[in-house]
Amino acid sequence: MKELMLKPTVIAHRGASGYLPEHTLEAKAMAHALGADYLEQDLVLTKDDIPVVLHDIHIDTISDVATKFPSRKRPDGRYYALDFTLAELKTLRVSERFDPKTGAAVFSGRFPAHSGAFEIPTLIEEIELIQGLNKSTGRKAGVYPELKSPDWHRQQGHDISKIVLPILQRYGYATKSDDCFLQCFELGEVKRLRTELGWKGRLVMLIDDVPKGDDGTDYRALHTAEGLKELAKIADGIGPALTSVFDKNGKPTGLVKFAHAAKLVVHPYTHRKDALPKYVKSSEELFQKLFVEAKADGIFSDFCDMVVRWRAKTR
Ligand code: CA
Repeated sequence: MKELMLKPTVIAHRGASGYLPEHTLEAKAMAHALGADYLEQDLVLTKDDIPVVLHDIHIDTISDVATKFPSRKRPDGRYYALDFTLAELKTLRVSERFDPKTGAAVFSGRFPAHSGAFEIPTLIEEIELIQGLNKSTGRKAGVYPELKSPDWHRQQGHDISKIVLPILQRYGYATKSDDCFLQCFELGEVKRLRTELGWKGRLVMLIDDVPKGDDGTDYRALHTAEGLKELAKIADGIGPALTSVFDKNGKPTGLVKFAHAAKLVVHPYTHRKDALPKYVKSSEELFQKLFVEAKADGIFSDFCDMVVRWRAKTR
């Protein structure tokens, strides 16, 4: 084992989301303190075109929107960030993720649902928090923004990529040497970012564990050596689900090998100590498999401190 070579990149998935409600500034401050290399931002737009940090286009699984604005749901019964101005979203209390039908927490062992004084942050508020902490602590953490459902946003008359890119550039995230990876699940948008929109920073293609995305992205093709070689013309890395990296029995699928042959970095998602794959008994066993056996280059983790600790021990 060449353990001295191991320097996996630790990405705080939605912040220190194992300990605090996802995508709150509190969760990001904690992830920074716990030593994550990158803090993730999932981005959606408000009605007034402000990028806010939220995992879903819906807000009924992480906020009290259904009590505060009961008449604002769409015919499908869901509440959408895009139907609210930033001022309205700022009146909501953010909670640990819950099932909107029952109100029960998704992860029962985590921060209590429906408790605490958390709010939805804007992208700018979050970048200023991270850059402020970088300055005050002297420890640099990067950003890892994800453009959420750009195809859907455009169908609704909003162009999320066109709004987010200038903000990233204004805050110093513009080239491949800046501490930023831009990520997206839509191949059409990844291509557009590189060509039409002129993004010069690092770019990661996320790979879902379904055959096809809502926008038409063919994820199966992105599991092949040829597909990844083609992707490498525009992207710097891939973000596959763990189910694409290991088969049901925990055997590496070969995806990392194909990606490395195409010179793409591989940052799989997601490590959760309270939802481990069946083929491992502990987080440490998963890290060993991921970084030593499969040779992945990093991991999105809800518990970034565990990866940081493991890395320090094996270095
Ligand atoms: Ca994400």
